[in-house]
Amino acid sequence: MSIEQVSKSSVLIAGAGIGGLAMALSLLRRGIDCDILEQSSELREVGAGLWISMNGVRVLRDLALTEQVEQNCIAAERRDIRLWSNGESWPLYDRSSDAAGNQPYLLLRAHLLKILVEGVRRLKPSAIHLNAHVVGFIQDDEGVRAKLADGTEIQGHALIGADGAHSKVRLGLIGNIESEYTNAIAWRGLVPVERLAPHQREHVVSTWIGPTAHVTAYPVKWQDTQLMTFSGQVDCADWLLESWSEKGSVKECLGDFQGWHSDIIELIRNVDTLNKWGLFVRPSLETWSKGRVTLLGDACHSMLPYLGQGVNMALEDASVLARCFDDQPNDLAKAFRTYQDLRLDRTSRVVKSAAGMLPVFHNPALNSVATAGDYIKTQWAPSATAARYDWIYQYDATTVPLH
Ligand SMILES: Cc1cc2nc3c(=O)[nH]c(=O)nc-3n(C[C@H](O)[C@H](O)[C@H](O)COP(=O)(O)OP(=O)(O)OC[C@H]3O[C@@H](n4cnc5c(N)ncnc54)[C@H](O)[C@@H]3O)c2cc1C
Repeated sequence: MSIEQVSKSSVLIAGAGIGGLAMALSLLRRGIDCDILEQSSELREVGAGLWISMNGVRVLRDLALTEQVEQNCIAAERRDIRLWSNGESWPLYDRSSDAAGNQPYLLLRAHLLKILVEGVRRLKPSAIHLNAHVVGFIQDDEGVRAKLADGTEIQGHALIGADGAHSKVRLGLIGNIESEYTNAIAWRGLVPVERLAPHQREHVVSTWIGPTAHVTAYPVKWQDTQLMTFSGQVDCADWLLESWSEKGSVKECLGDFQGWHSDIIELIRNVDTLNKWGLFVRPSLETWSKGRVTLLGDACHSMLPYLGQGVNMALEDASVLARCFDDQPNDLAKAFRTYQDLRLDRTSRVVKSAAGMLPVFHNPALNSVATAGDYIKTQWAPSATAARYDWIYQYDATTVPLH
C-alpha cells in the first residue's frame, strides 16, 4: 500500500524510533489501525547498548516480546561502582541475591529496533512508511492531515509525534523550544570482547566515576559475538551538535580520559566506531496534547542519559497512551489529555532527577583516593541507591490506574 492510500481512520505516528514502534505495536495489538511516517530512507541504529530497567521490561513483556528480547540479552551478574583512578570497586547489585529477578535487559539498540519492526510488520506489513518526513499538520473535528516535506498530505484519525528531540509535531503543537547545552558530551562505542583481557569480559555492569567524567560499561551481544559497550560522559565547555551521528576519534576520546585506569584506556583503544554528541536540556513542557494530536518519548521529554531512562520513558508512554485509546475510543482528545495528565509529572520528575545525577557522578571528592571512599560509601549506600532508583523502576505502565 502506498502512502497516499493510508486509511483516513488510521492513527498516524511520526517517527519509527523505539517510542513510535512500541506505540504502533501497542495499537495494532488492540486492533487499532495505525501507520508510521519515518523520515529516514532505511531503519538503522547507532551502534550502542541499551539498558532496559524493570519499568521498561514490564512494557516489553506486555507487548509479548519477552522471548525475542531475552534471546538477544545478556543478564548481568553484578553491578559495581568503580573509582576512575585505581579501579577500586564497590558492589551495587548481585544477581545471586536478587530473588525477585529484577535485573535489567542489556541489549543492542539495533536489536530492540529490529524486534519492534518485526512485531509491527507481522501485524501490518505496510505500516512503516520510509522517506516520509513530517513537517507540520492541520487538524479539525474530522481528523488530522500530516504534511510531508515532499508536499504530500496524509489524512488520518489522529497524530502522535514520536519524532524525537527535534520534533516537528511539537513545533506545530507548541512552537519553538530552545535547548541549552549542559557543558557535557557523551561518547558511545562497542568493543568486541575478544580484544579485551579476560577480567574485562565478565558479565558485570561497571559504572566508573571521576571528578569530571563517568563511564558505564556492560556486555551485549550480536548473534554469536559478545561486545562490551563503552558509554562515557565528559564535562566539556565546547559546543557540539545535538546529534547522534557525529563520529569521534580514539585519540580525541583518550584525551578526555587521561590518567584513567588502564581498563578504561584499553576499552577506548579497542573501540570500533566512536560516536559522540553534546548533551542538551529543554524546559519541561506544561502541555503536549491538543485535540487529536499528542507527543511521546523524546519529543515531549528528552532527558540527559544519566539515569538510562530515555527509552524506558518512551516505552512507558506508549503503553499508557495505548491504554487511554481503549479507555476513550470515541473521544481521542479526552484520551490524549488523560494520557498527558498521567505522564507529565512522572516524566518531568525523571528529567529533573537525570539532570541532578551530574554532580553525583562528577564530584571533586573523587579527585583523591583519600576522599573518594567515604563519598562513594555515602552516595552509593543501599539506602541512597534505593531512594534514587526504586520509584523509577517500580512503576508499572501496564497497570497504572487511568483515573
Ligand atoms: C547512544 C544512546 C544510548 C542510550 N542509552 C539509553 C539507555 O540505556 N536506556 C534508555 O532508556 N535510554 C537511552 N538513551 C536515550 C534514548 O535512546 C532516547 O531517549 C530514545 O531513543 C527516545 O526514543 P524516541 O522514539 O522518542 O525518539 P528517537 O529514538 O529519537 O526516534 C525518533 C524517530 O523519529 C524520526 N524522525 C525525526 N524527525 C522526524 C520527522 N520530522 N518526520 C518523520 N520522522 C522523524 C527519526 O528518524 C527517528 O527514527 C540512549 C540514547 C543514545 C543516543
